[in-house]
Amino acid sequence: MRKLFINLFVFFSSTCCFAQNDDSVMIRRIADEILLHGKAYANLHDLTKNIGGRLSGSPGFYKAEQWGLKVLQKSGADRAWLQECMIPHWVRGGKDEGTANIASPKKNLDVIALGNSIGTGSKGISANVVEVRSFEELENKKDSVKGKIVFYNYKFNPSFVNVFQAYGDAVRYRGAGASRAAKFGALAVIVRSMSESTDNNPHTGALRYDTTLPQIPAVAIGLKDADLLDSALRQKAVNVFLKTNGHFLPDTIGHNVIGELTGTEFPDQYITIGGHLDSWDPAEGAHDDGAGIVHTIEILRAFKALGFKPKHSIRFVLFANEENGLRGGAKYAEEARAKNEKHIFALESDAGGFSPRGYSFGGSAEQLKKLQSWIPLLIWYGVYQITDGGGGADVSPLNANLRTPVAELAPDTQRYFDYHHARNDVFENVNKRELEMGAVNMAALIYLVDKYGL
Ligand SMILES: [Zn+2]
Repeated sequence: MRKLFINLFVFFSSTCCFAQNDDSVMIRRIADEILLHGKAYANLHDLTKNIGGRLSGSPGFYKAEQWGLKVLQKSGADRAWLQECMIPHWVRGGKDEGTANIASPKKNLDVIALGNSIGTGSKGISANVVEVRSFEELENKKDSVKGKIVFYNYKFNPSFVNVFQAYGDAVRYRGAGASRAAKFGALAVIVRSMSESTDNNPHTGALRYDTTLPQIPAVAIGLKDADLLDSALRQKAVNVFLKTNGHFLPDTIGHNVIGELTGTEFPDQYITIGGHLDSWDPAEGAHDDGAGIVHTIEILRAFKALGFKPKHSIRFVLFANEENGLRGGAKYAEEARAKNEKHIFALESDAGGFSPRGYSFGGSAEQLKKLQSWIPLLIWYGVYQITDGGGGADVSPLNANLRTPVAELAPDTQRYFDYHHARNDVFENVNKRELEMGAVNMAALIYLVDKYGL
């Protein structure tokens, strides 16, 4: 097996990469720098253990801004600064509680309020549950929903190999479920977590209220509690008590944290690399998106350590408020547009610190083809596909407003939704090697885009 691998390596390096020998040498140097001297894992430890959860407007978020500015400076940015933007300030407001009368004494449900949700009030809400498995079933049951708690028990579809597709398919129940049920007079909603994990951790995440409908509280429950509730409802009527305390405080000031390496040939043309600094409150935001933050910083550190001087200016951006507003990404694009900046490419890491597999891309077919032509240089580091599928959330306003081509690192997806927005999204669940390989691949791609353009 080992022999075959070596033969394959010799074949690839002597044929398809021959013309790009300088590039393969440079990418090898980038990889060595990150794998031998990397700081991504140590930075992630610092961010997750010394700061922790970083929801927009929370003390953790402001600590993270100061941390980010310092680390960007220390990692060699030519300049680093804070870019002000207004951010929403939702607070959980206390411990979320839930019980169900399916045992005696009542069974505690492990509930977590969805982000942006209003609370139940201090007395809580107690009502019988109506279970639905889809919005179609909700429509069919609309006459029996008034005064009840609607339980959306829509499962991740396990047949999607890319688990982000299962998430994309299911997340509408988290995003729109509360308003859809409120339309028929429901008092609250419970959502089966956006996950296929085997534990019982509930997963939070943002909901969006339809402003034309009443606002009702919404919580998520873990998969074991969801299955238990489902089986109890097959036997009898189930009454659930919920108490949550979420509410919005006035919008407040937050910041994108930006570091820059000034380009040697085209200082007025920009390449952006970023992740989002904010994270949900029940955990440390290690995969989402501490990984993207330390990837971003690590690329800067490695470029400086190697003495690499980019032709274009490279911005390393720790975006504010991706999770419940995207105000940081919007502000960054707005200012770029106002200053008439030329942005040639933007790359995000916001899909976890797992082994890289490829990229998704948003741009023209010719640009995609050019990126794909570099796969032979990247394949030894794990990237084997670049697909048409848009970039990350924070760089999407650059694409929408300035038509900047955008991409997002696409790591292996199988375990991401075990942790996403749940209490186990902690440092211990990130693997050092896998995290570092993400930075290696992103740095290699940025090197190629800077050298050849798109
Ligand atoms: Zn994220």
